[in-house]
Amino acid sequence: MAYDFDLYVIGAGSGGVRSARFAAGFGAKVAVAESRYLGGTCVNVGCVPKKLLVYGAHFAEDFEQSAGFGWSLGEADFDWARLIANKDREINRLNGIYRNLLVNSGVTLHEGHARLIDPHQVEINGQRYSAKHILIATGGWPQIPDIPGREHAISSNEAFFLKELPKRILVVGGGYIAVEFAGIFHGLGADTKLLYRGELFLRGFDGAVRKHLQEELTKRGLDLQFNADIERIEKQADGSLKVTLKDGRELATDCVFYATGRRPMLDNLGLENTGVKLDKRGFIEVDEQYQSAEPSILAIGDVIGRVQLTPVALAEGMAVARRLFKPEQYRPVDYNMIPTAVFSLPNIGTVGLTEEQAREAGHKVQIFESRFRPMKLTLTECQERTLMKLVVDADTDKVLGCHMVGPDAGEIVQGLAIALKAGATKRDFDETIGVHPTAAEEFVTMRTPVAG
Ligand code: FAD
Ligand code: NDP
Repeated sequence: MAYDFDLYVIGAGSGGVRSARFAAGFGAKVAVAESRYLGGTCVNVGCVPKKLLVYGAHFAEDFEQSAGFGWSLGEADFDWARLIANKDREINRLNGIYRNLLVNSGVTLHEGHARLIDPHQVEINGQRYSAKHILIATGGWPQIPDIPGREHAISSNEAFFLKELPKRILVVGGGYIAVEFAGIFHGLGADTKLLYRGELFLRGFDGAVRKHLQEELTKRGLDLQFNADIERIEKQADGSLKVTLKDGRELATDCVFYATGRRPMLDNLGLENTGVKLDKRGFIEVDEQYQSAEPSILAIGDVIGRVQLTPVALAEGMAVARRLFKPEQYRPVDYNMIPTAVFSLPNIGTVGLTEEQAREAGHKVQIFESRFRPMKLTLTECQERTLMKLVVDADTDKVLGCHMVGPDAGEIVQGLAIALKAGATKRDFDETIGVHPTAAEEFVTMRTPVAG
């Protein structure tokens, strides 16, 4: 049967754009549908604008610390509206780049909401198109628990477009987004509380990292409230919000920001017209080659809920394009040793196993740790400390995990990830000459284990 397209991609986000462009480059006839914004979550309401806001927030401490280096500044004044307008301009520029990338690589762009009609047909803007393969790359959406007053809360989607910087804000959650945005709002001067339902935030990260970040954020005056969960939110006559916690406490605030995970974006997608199945958590179930239960339909990225990171969606998009249209170049995505950063202030950078995971997996481990005051701070009053940690297999000497909390941790961990992927041993680390004077050199100078 002749189809309109070889591949129809639903969603022009990180994974969809990568897959569409490469498939077209391999000679396939490709269309991509996008209902909201080119570049998807990462470019519009994720990684990119978030990082710009983190940079913005970081200036507060730069100004403060500059005094120790001889600078005298007048009183700093921050303009949220200007930051948001400049951020919007940059995102518009990136949207244009994504449009050009797609068009220049020969992909047909359909702007509108796409819906599956059957396993080989999509409907968009009243038109139907057939395709041999359909790729669902529709991403995710913030999930706010169903509590009374939920309509008064915002998510990351709205946080990027607030008209004003709230004077007081409650950030709810203990994952990436909550920790990053608590740092942004606190750094920009809002009276910020982070509420997390468990004992300690960032579940799944190394225990020492979680504790260290808790201490550092507390030192900076961020109000961390653990074992705290909201029961209801009520709007007051003056426009402020009254928040009642499950333990009966009441808090007054101007904004409640939920960062409690993301659900797959399947709204009005027409999955019921196909044989696509969902897993227990509600994400699209796929095999190791991203094929769903419906043979002509594949899915990648956040909508399959494996690892919700842009570089992972990119790798999956590339794998699908190769598998379908350049099988001789196909390589499966390796989910081991995925480095990641939390752009809190200070940053977390991590790759490989945590100490807890390594022990649980039965490794006999040696732990190396270094805690120090970064050189940049020696002429300042700031008492921030950096943590670096290596988890080593005592039998094979292989480095199983590297973890850091401190300035530029995200930048530093990228290089370490290559070493770990190549199977570096602790001896390789020891025999590597440091770059002096840097913080990163600590990773090659830790000699005495702190725990075995
Ligand atoms: P998306 O990028 O979400 O793209 C899906 C696209 O599909 C969207 O554009 C959507 O409009 C479109 N779409 C949905 N349904 C339809 C339909 N029916 N028809 C047409 N179009 C449709 N990851 C990192 O690696 N580093 C970070 O620093 C980072 N920061 C983040 C910060 C925040 C606040 C958030 C929310 C996420 C962050 N992420 C980060 C995660 C990252 O953004 C996602 O993992 C990534 O965008 C997933 O890509 P995707 O292609 O699966 O989906
Ligand atoms: P996460 O899954 O990282 O964290 C969700 C948090 O919300 C957890 O602390 C969880 O607690 C808590 N939570 C979940 N449900 C509830 C509830 N009903 N009530 C109270 N608390 C709840 O999700 P995020 O929203 O922070 O981010 C989504 C994903 O986006 C991340 O996992 C990450 O993959 C990606 N991302 C990556 C970034 C980066 O690379 N720097 C930055 C931002 C996002 P508990 O642990 O107890 O379950």
